[in-house]
Amino acid sequence: MRYNLIRKMDISDGPGVRVSIFLQGCEFHCKNCFNPETWDFEKGHEFTDETIKTVIDLAKEDYVKGLSILGGEPMHPRNIEGTIKLAKAFREAYPHKNIWVWTGFLVENVVNQEVFKYVDVVVDGQYKDELHDFRLKYCGSSNQRVIDIKKSIKNNKVCLYED
Ligand code: SF4
Repeated sequence: MRYNLIRKMDISDGPGVRVSIFLQGCEFHCKNCFNPETWDFEKGHEFTDETIKTVIDLAKEDYVKGLSILGGEPMHPRNIEGTIKLAKAFREAYPHKNIWVWTGFLVENVVNQEVFKYVDVVVDGQYKDELHDFRLKYCGSSNQRVIDIKKSIKNNKVCLYED
């Protein structure tokens, strides 16, 4: 797996101050994607154990509320194992911080559901330009869902995240 960028202090992708990582590679190619430089799987930087250590280290201060994993496509079959490894390590390091993931796949179609053991919220669905709504807080278009994963697992149905 490769990644495009790590942000030390991100206040626009999820609640509160966060560390965010943008992974490299996405095949959806949504019209007016906010991040087309992440489409190519071969660009960016190699994702290694050092990258995981860096992310964990950057999140050590109390004011960092969690980790955001974006893309590119974190749930693509080429990236999902790296995403799981990162989420698992972050969860072990910080049981009380939250993990949010953005994906163009619907959660029902994610190839490796193990990832949901470690994440709190998933924003799912491809960005649809014709459904763009600037009032949405955590996504770009109204077809996308902000899903509370723990609540969904507990209730065995998709439950939306409430602020
Ligand atoms: S799924 Fe996300 S990263 Fe991929 S093309 Fe669509 S908006 Fe861009």
